[in-house]
Amino acid sequence: MSIEYRPPTARAPLKPLDQALAELLAHALPLAGTQAVSTFDADGRVLAQDLVASLDVPAHDNSSMDGYALRCADWVDDTTVLQVNQRIPAGTVGYPLAPGSAARIFTGAPIPPGANAVVMQEFCTAVTAGEGTPATVRIQSAPHPGQWIRRRGEDIASGDVVLRQGTRLTPAALGLAASIGFGTLRVAPPVRVALFSTGDELVMPGEVLPDDMKPGAIYNSNRFFLRALLVRLGCTVTDLGIVPDRLDATMAALESASRQHDLILTSGGVSVGEEDHIKPAVQALGELNLWQIAIKPGKPFAYGKLGAAHFIGLPGNPVSSLVTFLVLVRPFILKLQGAAVLAPESIALSAHFDWARADKRREFLRARQNAAGGLDLFGNQSSGVLTSAVWGDGLIDNPAGKTIAHGDVVRFIPFSSLLS
Ligand code: AMP
Ligand code: MG
Repeated sequence: MSIEYRPPTARAPLKPLDQALAELLAHALPLAGTQAVSTFDADGRVLAQDLVASLDVPAHDNSSMDGYALRCADWVDDTTVLQVNQRIPAGTVGYPLAPGSAARIFTGAPIPPGANAVVMQEFCTAVTAGEGTPATVRIQSAPHPGQWIRRRGEDIASGDVVLRQGTRLTPAALGLAASIGFGTLRVAPPVRVALFSTGDELVMPGEVLPDDMKPGAIYNSNRFFLRALLVRLGCTVTDLGIVPDRLDATMAALESASRQHDLILTSGGVSVGEEDHIKPAVQALGELNLWQIAIKPGKPFAYGKLGAAHFIGLPGNPVSSLVTFLVLVRPFILKLQGAAVLAPESIALSAHFDWARADKRREFLRARQNAAGGLDLFGNQSSGVLTSAVWGDGLIDNPAGKTIAHGDVVRFIPFSSLLS
């Protein structure tokens, strides 16, 4: 066999992240169909309908305190005594308030017709008590019209669009949907994801004890955070485990995963080494549309299609895998679900560190907010150091070629908005 000499070819410039993301999102056509789920189970899902209120919330003017409902005009001074001839707990309705009287009322109970204020019980003294109800009460503080009354419709008016299609549901949004009577919600279908890791060095924690690790072996960490991230995004995950570093095995895994899945997500094996088989396997079975992006960490990112399934190859280094997931895969999956907001806004914060090592690529640095309102940087920014992503509470989005001096304002994306 002759060894052919190939002159080095000029490397194509890496694709800027914004361009790569735009191209990636152009491929992410929202999945067809919708699913009805119990409001209890809809956290994190993307709403596939507008929710329109068919009632006012609150449905009637009601008391925001335990106390006495009265007419302000009946109050003269702090010796004023009013008759108490009705008691209105929450869940019941009173009757029109006679002039010169007050109604014993509890939080959430409807204000009786005629009353225009509530005085909290701390400022009232029962003068003579009947059977569990004071027959008269002294009102010791001046009532003001509207005081301690929650107005009908002050939260939601009937006809309001309370939540729009494309909203990613949060716990508070579930409560809001429930407050207008929705016990079931129509949401986007779950994205069916096949996940596998490549790497002959990988072993599973729980299967091999640290003391029994062969030289060169490492634990598979990517599998754990990728699976958790996918679940948080409302995906159903088929975990195909670890695939060996062989072209035939890689092709077989991709081939079978391409059936019944919307997305195949892999980690590792996507660079240019002889042990990296993802790229040739995807090219042999389908098409590779995107490969290598100008970000650090995470350059060897790949996107392609295998039949109807999308393919995304993440780098093997754990931090590269995590960052590319958050910056590229997360918006991709949200778009498949028809989400209106795909990527979180970054916030402007002051750097409390110096960063002299400008990179040619746009860089995502692991940092955390400090008590002084600035950002501290994790000391080791290597793409293999997963500790940085646990110590940190977000990513600094640092433009290509930019150094950072103490006090500079930088863009920061909190993990709280990326990991949910
Ligand atoms: P690769 O992209 O396959 O060249 O892998 C790059 C680096 O990431 C190597 O040091 C691998 O051992 C490591 N790596 C690959 N996959 C994983 C994984 N699933 N968990 C932890 N480290 C990994
Ligand atoms: Mg590898």
